[in-house]
Amino acid sequence: MIPVRESIYPRFPGGKTKVFTLSFDDGVEQDIRLVSIMKARGITGTFNLNSGLFREENAPYSHPLIRRLPQTELVDLFAGSDMEIAVHGMKHPNWTELPPETALLDIIEDRKNLERIFQKPIRGCAYPYGAYNETVVRQLQAAGIRYARTVRDTENFSFPENWLTWHPTCHFAHKKIEEFTEKFLNEKFDKNPAIFYIWGHSYELEALNNWNVMETLLNRIGRRTDIWYATNIAVYDYMKAFHRLNFSAETTFVKNPSAISVWIEKKGEILEIPAGETKELPE
Ligand SMILES: [Zn+2]
Repeated sequence: MIPVRESIYPRFPGGKTKVFTLSFDDGVEQDIRLVSIMKARGITGTFNLNSGLFREENAPYSHPLIRRLPQTELVDLFAGSDMEIAVHGMKHPNWTELPPETALLDIIEDRKNLERIFQKPIRGCAYPYGAYNETVVRQLQAAGIRYARTVRDTENFSFPENWLTWHPTCHFAHKKIEEFTEKFLNEKFDKNPAIFYIWGHSYELEALNNWNVMETLLNRIGRRTDIWYATNIAVYDYMKAFHRLNFSAETTFVKNPSAISVWIEKKGEILEIPAGETKELPE
């Protein structure tokens, strides 16, 4: 008799089926308030900075709303925190409007600057203006960038097919954000797991005067035992580790060659496959 082939689903740390992540751009003063709202609710995320646009210490703001932080304040805010820092173009250029080699230089310079300042490898990106094309994607790849966020809302909880064009669920001011939130919180996602990915600019919270909306939203989503709170790069690394699992042809055992534990579900059973270990699977 041919045995039934049981599906295998990725599960997040602890066997969870849901992950929540945030992505905010431009490195502005309002990030300070946003980070404190996030931290108080156990939420982490990714901040996309322009290393050529840090404000000079004690210099006046160049824009009344988009109040860029000086380097020292960005270091105070992010260094040693759980937040991820990612590339967003030295001076916020539109990479699709530059010669490819100029775009490549800009991406690498931005990456080098941020790595020097924050002392960790920078492997993520958000497209300035959300602008990308095939050439820009190739330059990011050449620069060692692993994922890049667009501004195209999927309005769903799916994972990207191509990490270098990672479409988020929605902007925080999306008119259906409450509907998406309730759906994310109430559905079980007992087959494929779900990602709720919200993006924006913290200065928009000031412009739209909706800090309280963000607080209410994160009150709903934060500090729940069934959600994994992760930065963009942590989601990327985790899913890559899942896809690196070496299953036997009959899926009776599996080896995890990565340096992090990976959780899976087979036949309703949640299993942790510790880093470097081989584990038997239920038949
Ligand atoms: Zn931007």
